[in-house]
Amino acid sequence: MMRHFLWCGSKEGRGLHWVSWEIVTTPKKVGGLGISKIEDINSALLAKWAWRYKTDIDGMWRKVVLSIHGGRNRWTFLPVKVAGCWKKIVVFLDKLVLNGKGLKFWIKGKIGNGENILFWKDIWYGCVPLMDRWPGLYSKEVIRNCVVRDRIQPDGSEGMGLNNNWRIEATTVESISEMQDVQEMLSKVCFSGGKDNWVWEADSSGVFSLASVKKLLQLGRNLQSNNEMRWALWVPIKVNIFMWRLEKDRIPTRLALLKGNISIPDSSCPLCEATPESAGHLFVDCGYSFGVWQAVWSWCRIAQPMVSNIHEMMKLPRLGKQKKWYKRILRGILMIVCWAIWKTRNKKVFEGSSSKVVEVVALVKSLSFFWLKNRSNFKRLEWKDWLVNPIYIL
Ligand SMILES: [Zn+2]
Repeated sequence: MMRHFLWCGSKEGRGLHWVSWEIVTTPKKVGGLGISKIEDINSALLAKWAWRYKTDIDGMWRKVVLSIHGGRNRWTFLPVKVAGCWKKIVVFLDKLVLNGKGLKFWIKGKIGNGENILFWKDIWYGCVPLMDRWPGLYSKEVIRNCVVRDRIQPDGSEGMGLNNNWRIEATTVESISEMQDVQEMLSKVCFSGGKDNWVWEADSSGVFSLASVKKLLQLGRNLQSNNEMRWALWVPIKVNIFMWRLEKDRIPTRLALLKGNISIPDSSCPLCEATPESAGHLFVDCGYSFGVWQAVWSWCRIAQPMVSNIHEMMKLPRLGKQKKWYKRILRGILMIVCWAIWKTRNKKVFEGSSSKVVEVVALVKSLSFFWLKNRSNFKRLEWKDWLVNPIYIL
């Protein structure tokens, strides 16, 4: 009906398309007609389920969902276990990006008594879940679905302290620096009393609305090119968040640890042992990483680009007039290269084992194959063709 009205379609022909659908659905402020796309309305309605799940604590339907899907440690934002309608919703919501950020980043917990907000998985301190902020500590956590009250509690008159249930010991450089961040967190948070609350960050009222979701979807389409970090949905969220931290220079390289007054015996790059290890060095300038990049670019059939810092590197997939999926695949591969370099670097630092450049390149090829095949619609991806050139499928 909307189409007919706007595009004066008739039975004989389709009529003239006076305006493109994109313009029709662009908000009025930006010069459009402000009519919501059907897809956007659908996304907004589904997003509401996430909001209701978080806020409707006593709802019967929520208890049913939790009894069917809860329990196991694997889910993150919303519980999911068995196939069915709820799972479809959760899978959709996991991929829903609103103005550059995943849906869950818009729903923030406000601690009351700490009994309903998940300590590791919900966002309630800072802007990412603590499982992503402190991956070293999280990997040692036994009860991954614990709530805030299970891990921290008021500590006399002095603010907050760790709960007796906290059994995680920091043993690596990474987790020691994470523990310092935990201490800082304890000095900043408190239980305000009463029930835990949720804030919908996209609206100044803090309350979820369908209109605000639609607005974010629209903004996302208009402002797509303003920041360098864009999500690659076929790549797992942990890798996306790693890239986000990398862009913000929040990766615990040796130089970053030194700047944070954490004493370490050696500040040189673990991979080349030649230069102090900053993020810019490790991912761009390092001779070892250069070898990895060189192999990956030639695999992608791209001439080695000249980049001098991380921001320029992140911009690469957006340059040129390639197809949408060409850029998406390239962006994902770029993320996976950084991820693989970081993994390799950590293996050297924490386990003392060195990898060859070819092994890192092989890891990039296999991770990217596995994720693209399982997390996108390219189900027919073939390993032997992938090895020759990742863009072959287009
Ligand atoms: Zn190096």
